[in-house]
Amino acid sequence: MAAITIRELTKVYPGGVRALDALDLDVADGEFFALLGPSGCGKTTLLRTVAGLETATAGTIRLDGADVTRLPPGRRDVGMVFQDYALFPHMTVLDNIAYPLRVKKRGRAARHERAAEAGRYLGLEGLEGRRPGELSGGQQQRVALARALVAEPRVYLLDEPLSNLDARLRLEARTFLKRLQRELAVTTVFVTHDQAEALALADRIAVMEAGRIRQLGTPVEVFRRPANLFVASFIGSTPMNLLPGRVRADGVAVAGAVLPVPDEARGRVGEGEALVCGVRPEYLHYGSDPKDGAFGGRVSVVEHLGGSSLVTMDVEGEPVHVVVGEGREPEPGDEGWALPRPDRVLLYRDG
Ligand code: ADP
Ligand code: MG
Repeated sequence: MAAITIRELTKVYPGGVRALDALDLDVADGEFFALLGPSGCGKTTLLRTVAGLETATAGTIRLDGADVTRLPPGRRDVGMVFQDYALFPHMTVLDNIAYPLRVKKRGRAARHERAAEAGRYLGLEGLEGRRPGELSGGQQQRVALARALVAEPRVYLLDEPLSNLDARLRLEARTFLKRLQRELAVTTVFVTHDQAEALALADRIAVMEAGRIRQLGTPVEVFRRPANLFVASFIGSTPMNLLPGRVRADGVAVAGAVLPVPDEARGRVGEGEALVCGVRPEYLHYGSDPKDGAFGGRVSVVEHLGGSSLVTMDVEGEPVHVVVGEGREPEPGDEGWALPRPDRVLLYRDG
């Protein structure tokens, strides 16, 4: 087990793509850490550089204080699980799992015993003799995890390990992964482009954009208080409402309503200043009666989310999304009001 300390890590690929840009990151010993960000932001590059599969252009990587930046992959004690699992197609499940032990030159009997044990632990009993092509996506993922497990690394790096699974299996595998990490308590960096997955699994999350970390915090912090417009629009399973506003003496004028200036923004915004006001659809309350500080408008779309609905209203030409509980949904064409929870209103400067 190990803490990861990354300082000013830069990776420029031949050809000039700057995939990591002086990135700093601290992952605590035993932590389940998620790296989240859009495709191409540098997540895979970061994992591969920590694993030693890519050479850092500049900066340092330390594991428990020891500088591993220039060590070959085999001497870093890091287990990586790839998006496509990278199993050997011609080898059986057992031989795939045992592979790291073969690299470590363990005897055949010891290898097989340890691999069988890891296979049982990951629910692969009875499949030891199959080849990867004869397994489901979920089973292949477990083989990849078992293979990472037998090497007993100090750090696990998981690159979108759930992305090849269908929605239902994915939920199951996610719960399984979380339990596994709790039991083993091995420092794990988990890459995903799926924010719901990151929020559900991680102790802490870093949101990346263009080779840099734009925000780092617990899932609750990142969800409730996105630090900037990039994170605000990226995080959340429903789209964050981002509405133009202007500061006045009595509050912030937004889409026909005047909202109180949030405590943490008081003193930092000046009268007349143009801002972007962020409110999550979950933090708006829909009603049919006018209320002070509520956005009034006409309902244009009602989408069923399962236990609730996402209602889109046209408010002075701006779409405003509101999550409405089961049984309280309006009809398209209804006039209604969306009241923001005052302690969940966010203000951003544009750009
Ligand atoms: P992510 O995993 O977040 O989708 P990547 O780390 O794969 O992002 O890629 C980051 C950037 O680096 C992208 O612009 C990508 O095109 C580029 N890139 C990735 N691998 C290579 C490579 N081997 N050679 C050149 N450019 C690369
Ligand atoms: Mg990737």
